[in-house]
Amino acid sequence: MTLRIAVVGAGPSGLYAADALASAGAEVDVLDKLPVPFGLVRYGVAPDHFSIRSVRDTLAKVLDRPEVRLLAGVEVGDVGAGADVSVDELVASYDGVVLTYGAARDRRLDVPGEDLPGSVAATDFVAWYCGHPDADRETMEAALAHARSVVVIGVGNVAVDVTRVLTAPMERLEATDMPQHVLDALRASHVNDVHVLGRRGPAQATWTTKELKELGELEGVDVVVDDPHDFELEPVSASLVESDRVVARNVDILKSWSEHVLDGSHKHIHLHFHSRPHQLHGTDRVDTVVVERTTVDGTGAAHGTGETYEVGAQLVVRSVGYRGTALPGVPFDARRNVIPNVEGRVVDADGSPVPGLYVAGWIKRGPTGIIGTNKKDAGATVTSLLADLEGAAGKGGDGVVPVLVERGVAPVDIEGWRRIDAAERALGSSRGRERTTLHERDALVSAART
Ligand code: NAP
Repeated sequence: MTLRIAVVGAGPSGLYAADALASAGAEVDVLDKLPVPFGLVRYGVAPDHFSIRSVRDTLAKVLDRPEVRLLAGVEVGDVGAGADVSVDELVASYDGVVLTYGAARDRRLDVPGEDLPGSVAATDFVAWYCGHPDADRETMEAALAHARSVVVIGVGNVAVDVTRVLTAPMERLEATDMPQHVLDALRASHVNDVHVLGRRGPAQATWTTKELKELGELEGVDVVVDDPHDFELEPVSASLVESDRVVARNVDILKSWSEHVLDGSHKHIHLHFHSRPHQLHGTDRVDTVVVERTTVDGTGAAHGTGETYEVGAQLVVRSVGYRGTALPGVPFDARRNVIPNVEGRVVDADGSPVPGLYVAGWIKRGPTGIIGTNKKDAGATVTSLLADLEGAAGKGGDGVVPVLVERGVAPVDIEGWRRIDAAERALGSSRGRERTTLHERDALVSAART
C-alpha cells in the first residue's frame, strides 16, 4: 500500500517536503490554516521583491503533482477550542505527519513602553502590507497616519523590507500586488525619516548585501550613517570583516554612505549602530524612543554604556525576529521556540522519538536562512521519515478527509486555489497591475468556490 503523509503548513518548507515525499512515491495531503497556500512567500516576502516572490511559481508546481492534494483553510490544533482537526487525529489517519507551520509570532523586546499605541511588531506590519487576512488594518493604518518619523528596531532583512516599504517611491509599490487600501495608506503617509537601530556594530548586522544596497538605490531617499565611531571596529568586528566576505562588503557599503554627500532628498533613512532601545515614551501613544549606546565585547555581545539619546518617533516597528509557537499535543522547546527534534524526528522531553511526527522549516530550526535553506532542511526530514517507514505497509484510507466531511469542513483544494489566482489576476489587471492580493478571508473563500 502506498504511504500517505500529511504535511501541516503550505509554505516553502511544507511544499519542499511534499515534493520530496511525492518523488519517493508517497501520497501527500498538504494542510494549511489559511485558505491559500505559500505561507511566507505570499505573506512575508516583500511585494516589491518580484524575483523572490516568483518562487511561488516553482512551489505551485508541487501542488500540481498528482500525488499531492491541497487541503487549505483547515486549522490543526485543539478541536475543543475551535480547530478543525487535532494532531492526534492526523497521526491516526496518516503513516507520517510533517509539521512545517513556521514561526509566525514576533519576539518581545521587554522594554518599558513596548505596547504603547504606535509601537507595532514587524510581523504585524509585514502581514498588513502583504494583505494577510488576519492583519490588524485599523491599528497599522492608524499608526502610519500619525507618523512623520519612524524607528525600526533591528538590522536584519525584515527591518530592511519595512524601511524600504515606508520610504520607497509609490511607482515602485504600485507595480506590486499590495491590496489597494495598503497602497492608499502608504501614499497618504507623511513619513520622511526612518531611524534603524542596530544594538551591535555594522559588522554584526544580519541583513544581506543585496537587500542593504537597495536602500541606497531608492529614488528620493538619502541614507545617513552619521556616527564615524561606528567604523572604529572592535577586535571581534575586525576579525569578522576579515573572515567573512559578506560582512566585509556590507561594512564597505555602510562606510561609503558615511562618507557620501547627501543629495538633498527630503526622505532620510538614518542607520544607527551600537544603539539599543531603552524605553518608549508617550502619553497616549508613542512619541519618543530613548536609545542607549552600547559597546560590543570580545564574544560579540552588546552591553549598555548607560549613555542615552532620544529619537522622536510616532511609529515604532519592532523587527527583532520571528518566534515559533506550540501546537497542542506536540512537544515544544519554550526556550528556543522550536519543536525539539533529532534529524527532523520530533522527540519528547526524554529525547525519545514521538512515533509518526516529523518537523521541518522554521519551527524545526528557528527563523533563519533564505527560502532555499528550507529545501535542504525539508529534504533531510523526509530522508528520516522514509528511513523509518521503509518496508512499512501503508495504513490506507483517505487521510483526514472523512473527519473533515463529518465536521462539515470544506477545504480549498487546488482547483479552488486556481480560481483565487485567476480572481487576483483579474482584479490586478482591472488596475493595470499583474495581480492584486485579495485580503479578506471571505473574499478568498468565495473566489475559491465561484
Ligand atoms: P534576523 O536576521 O534575526 O534579525 C533580527 C534583528 O533583531 C537582529 O539585528 C538582532 O540583533 C535584532 N534584535 C534581536 N533582539 C533584539 C533586542 N532585544 N533589541 C534590539 N535588537 C534586537 O531576523 P529577521 O530580519 O526577522 O529575518 C528572519 C529571517 O528571514 C532571516 O534569515 C532573514 O535573512 C530572512 N529574510 C530574508 C529576506 C530576503 O532574503 N530578502 C527578507 C526578509 C527576511 P542581534 O543580531 O544583535 O541579535
